[in-house]
Amino acid sequence: MSKKTNLSIVIPVHNEEENVIWLHEALKNIIPTLNLTYEIIFIDDGSTDKTFEKLKSIQDEYLRILQFQRNYGKAAALSCGFREARGEYIITMDGDLQDDPKEIPQFLVALKEYDMVSGWKFERKDTMSKRAFSKIFNKLTQILTGIKIHDFNCGYKGYRSYVVKNIHVYAEFHRYIPVLAHWKGYTVGEIKVDHHARKYGKSKYGIERLLKGFLDLITVTFLGTYKKRPLHIFGTVGFLLCLSGILIGGYLSSLWIRGIKIGDRPLLMLGIVLIVTGVQLISLGLIGELMTHNRNNDDYIIKYDSFEPETGL
Ligand code: UDP
Ligand code: MG
Repeated sequence: MSKKTNLSIVIPVHNEEENVIWLHEALKNIIPTLNLTYEIIFIDDGSTDKTFEKLKSIQDEYLRILQFQRNYGKAAALSCGFREARGEYIITMDGDLQDDPKEIPQFLVALKEYDMVSGWKFERKDTMSKRAFSKIFNKLTQILTGIKIHDFNCGYKGYRSYVVKNIHVYAEFHRYIPVLAHWKGYTVGEIKVDHHARKYGKSKYGIERLLKGFLDLITVTFLGTYKKRPLHIFGTVGFLLCLSGILIGGYLSSLWIRGIKIGDRPLLMLGIVLIVTGVQLISLGLIGELMTHNRNNDDYIIKYDSFEPETGL
């Protein structure tokens, strides 16, 4: 494999035994015609079927296989792929044959203009409920983040390598990569891509997982607004609460000094609650700040890596 790689294709797969060989074949029909040096990286995200065995049976010097110890989720698999990818251009796609490799040249053209390009499944071939949920999700994300793309969650995306080296995704955050990239100052484009119905295997994203990801929108909006400074919001609210508590306490103390009984006043209770809550919120902000700075996003464990680096010996 050449040391300088132009293109890395990154594919997270979880239980896609019927799909991986076909997908690899379809990729091999397109990529070699592009006259680029490339690598195809499959990340087996803890599959419990024969996905890994199927991948290992493929003879291709441009294929790299990474295998997770268990199922860490698509975001962790992408994050690992981003870290391992050596290409100047990186394209991620789903491993279930729903994304068509014929779109790769389109992504490469758009990446001359943008730092990152997101696919838009304008005729999405998924269930009604999923399409409906996705519409609401995309509209809300557009409104909350101010980024005008149609399909945040599309797995088919292209990146200039510096974008992915600067972005960490975990939990369900793969949905928000365009948002994170935009906030880092990268340009984000969008292209329409063909989408196929899933022929083999099952979707791993039911409504429950989508809802879970939806809650992350709150975190993302929060991160975007406060730019990883949790203390700024918790601290401000905590400080205001504390201040009101102290003012109430001061007022009551002045009554007490003047010999007026304050024992059965609800205001006393409120003052104490405000001070205690305020102090807690400030502490929460501080903990948030510490965690943000010490967060280890890559906590997945790689069990197998087909890539053996050239040692030069
Ligand atoms: N996937 C993964 N880990 C998971 C769930 C999914 O790597 O925990 C992969 C899956 O194998 C596929 C891609 O992520 O290649 C998209 O998943 P899926 O097709 O189930 O999602 P949908 O298209 O239904 O939204
Ligand atoms: Mg799919």
